[in-house]
Amino acid sequence: MTNALRIKPRPTRKIKIGDHYIGADEPILIQSMCATKTQDIDATVQQVEQLYRAGAGLIRLAVDSKKDVEALAQIRRQTKANLVIDLQENYQLIEDVAPYVQKVRYNPGHLYHTQTEVAVKDKVKFIVKIARDFDLALRIGVNFGSLDPNNKEKENPWQSALTTTYEHCDYMEGMGFERYCISLKSSDPQAVVTLNREFAKNYLHVPVHLGVTEAGMLPDAEIKSRMAFEPLLTEGIGDTLRVSITIANEQKDQEVVVAEKIIADVIAGRLTDFSKYNFAGLNVISCPSCSRVENHVFVKLAQEVRTALSFAQNEKLTIAVMGCRVNGPGETDHADLGLWCAPKFVNLKRGSNLIGQFAYDEVIPKLVEEVKNFLRAT
Ligand code: SF4
Repeated sequence: MTNALRIKPRPTRKIKIGDHYIGADEPILIQSMCATKTQDIDATVQQVEQLYRAGAGLIRLAVDSKKDVEALAQIRRQTKANLVIDLQENYQLIEDVAPYVQKVRYNPGHLYHTQTEVAVKDKVKFIVKIARDFDLALRIGVNFGSLDPNNKEKENPWQSALTTTYEHCDYMEGMGFERYCISLKSSDPQAVVTLNREFAKNYLHVPVHLGVTEAGMLPDAEIKSRMAFEPLLTEGIGDTLRVSITIANEQKDQEVVVAEKIIADVIAGRLTDFSKYNFAGLNVISCPSCSRVENHVFVKLAQEVRTALSFAQNEKLTIAVMGCRVNGPGETDHADLGLWCAPKFVNLKRGSNLIGQFAYDEVIPKLVEEVKNFLRAT
């Protein structure tokens, strides 16, 4: 359990998540997520314990199938840690996972893809009913990599993210369900600051989960997280947070260690001097990986991308390296060039256009070639 305090209270509700509370004057709860295969029960229990011992108050697992649910049931029996899962398109999975977790995150952007005959509000109603029945907290988790495709303001993703968040908060309030928090995550730390500030101004009573998504490898992941968290935490915005790091499973507890360090520094007033960093050059964003991709293969790919593109270090260029189709297509759309992984190949894109699908050991030279073409053309 984390001992981290908070710099100043915000007048939010206090909500219960397992044996913790978040919001108001409660300490900031640190979260992390397993990147092991959920069905590899021993490895996942070991990682849950690694994160729990490091100080994670809530640990997320990826659960996509009935077999994952069976694994989750066994993992639950072997740990005291508070667990959370995130629902993807199959929102009805909440019924199966509810007995084993303390919280569920749903992504509004994923409620539009399947069962289109069911209204989104009715899907939320179902999620809320199960949360009530099983004593769960919820997170409305809005992510720039998977925004609601029907949102009118899709030309303006910042506004689209806010509009969707407000809409889902209003669903919760309308249903009389108060045990929820929100997250507005982006790979752009400035977007995280602006959007969370704006949200906190308008929805004073709703606790906020902070995160810079796809923050990449160290040290970038820590710098980007500090850029977003330091100003927000200083203003009292942020009741729980996660530092996302693209890192090998053996070192996954660094997510918790870095989060604790950032919170402690903010509380002590030790804020970062960002002027010493060059933000104008190459920006490699990469997801932290989870059960949906092979961690070591993915981390190696992300490292190879960074090394192979060292020649473009000072170029204004954003490259996305994503583990799977959950946030891969959306996040790569917003990058200059992007890779997103399927089990047997990697999709290489330039903006929203697919260049091709390449084997893992063939994609790096192809990316280098495309980066050179891109730089010549711009
Ligand atoms: S993009 Fe896919 S693999 Fe990467 S963290 Fe998100 S869900 Fe997991």
